[in-house]
Amino acid sequence: MNATKVQAYAAQSPTSGLAPFGISRREASTQDVEIEILFCGICHSDLHSVRNEWSEFMPTNYPIVPGHEIVGRVTKVGSAVTKFKRGDLAAVGCMVDSDGTCPHCRDGLEQFCPNMILTFNSPDKHLGGVTYGGYSDSIVVDERFVLRVPSNLKLAGAAPLLCAGITTFSPMRHWGVSKSKRVGVVGLGGLGHMGVKFARAFRAHVAVFTHSPNKKEDALRLGADEVVVSSNADEMKKHAGSFDFILDTVSANHDINAYINLLGVDGNLTLVGAPAEPLAVPAFSLIVRRRSFSGSSIGGIAETQEMLDFCGENNITADVEVIPIQKVNEAYERLLKSDVKYRFSIDMASLKSE
Ligand code: NAP
Ligand code: ZN
Repeated sequence: MNATKVQAYAAQSPTSGLAPFGISRREASTQDVEIEILFCGICHSDLHSVRNEWSEFMPTNYPIVPGHEIVGRVTKVGSAVTKFKRGDLAAVGCMVDSDGTCPHCRDGLEQFCPNMILTFNSPDKHLGGVTYGGYSDSIVVDERFVLRVPSNLKLAGAAPLLCAGITTFSPMRHWGVSKSKRVGVVGLGGLGHMGVKFARAFRAHVAVFTHSPNKKEDALRLGADEVVVSSNADEMKKHAGSFDFILDTVSANHDINAYINLLGVDGNLTLVGAPAEPLAVPAFSLIVRRRSFSGSSIGGIAETQEMLDFCGENNITADVEVIPIQKVNEAYERLLKSDVKYRFSIDMASLKSE
């Protein structure tokens, strides 16, 4: 198969940091779309993967080129492509392929397909080796996994919708977040701040739980009705048993039971944050009020398009700090300190100066 060399940023080991690295992209075949990448968001999953923190569940293959919040412009389409033409805006999220035939794919839940291919660190059936993500000049993806970007959205802030957006939108839709529901969002980072925006757009009552007291004002500006600093035991106690739904987006180990106790009867806590260590859930916290504790993984392709269209109609994007790729290692350190307002978005034009 024909391939072209493009520039990227890769990590060579869990401790090497990211640096310039040449990769190959396949020539666009019949059903492929080739995209020049304009912006790529930095997800905490990029950091977990680069540092091999999920080694037990999803070991990292090095070199790794992360990035799964991709927006760009179509530069080439294969002869069978119908949804895109050269010059269109286009986006790619966490997945680039699935078998298309299993029950999950037929239900529009490609994220659960046993043969799903992630945008990075999955086997690359075209070129061999592993897939390389969005910290690069361009990407070639099967049209089925390419999304349309509403033209009114600013691109730097639209990129994070492809992971932070869908990962918070999908469980809120699944668990019926709507008017008059009491919703909690734990952790005000990339995912958390999108969760607040969606819960607000769905007209729920939204409370943010943060371990960073300095984020209080931002949380209110982003749409929260109230903010609780999680270290304040009195404030936490006041909210006991009062929520219908809580979305936990925390990237590090923490006391999950403190939040399960905030749920009312039949309340649900959905975990989207993915700390490497197991979390302890006491049986009685769930039993006493028929509470449920569940997880959620990104969202299917149709739902991702629905989310993007919803964002277009409601003018929703991520609050971003735009950085050149040369600042990516610094950005990772800041992510670990919860020091980002509220998503880093890499201006990929900066890669051309390497
Ligand atoms: P992020 O921007 O770093 O946000 C994580 C937030 O968690 C921080 O802003 C902070 O919020 C809170 N936090 C961090 N360390 C903490 C600690 N030690 N104790 C308590 N709170 C802490 O990360 P993100 O990109 O939103 O991703 C969040 C998590 O979701 C990651 O684990 C990521 O891998 C995972 N994820 C999962 C999916 C999925 O499909 N399920 C998709 C994408 C990402 P405060 O400062 O407000 O406390
Ligand atoms: Zn992500």
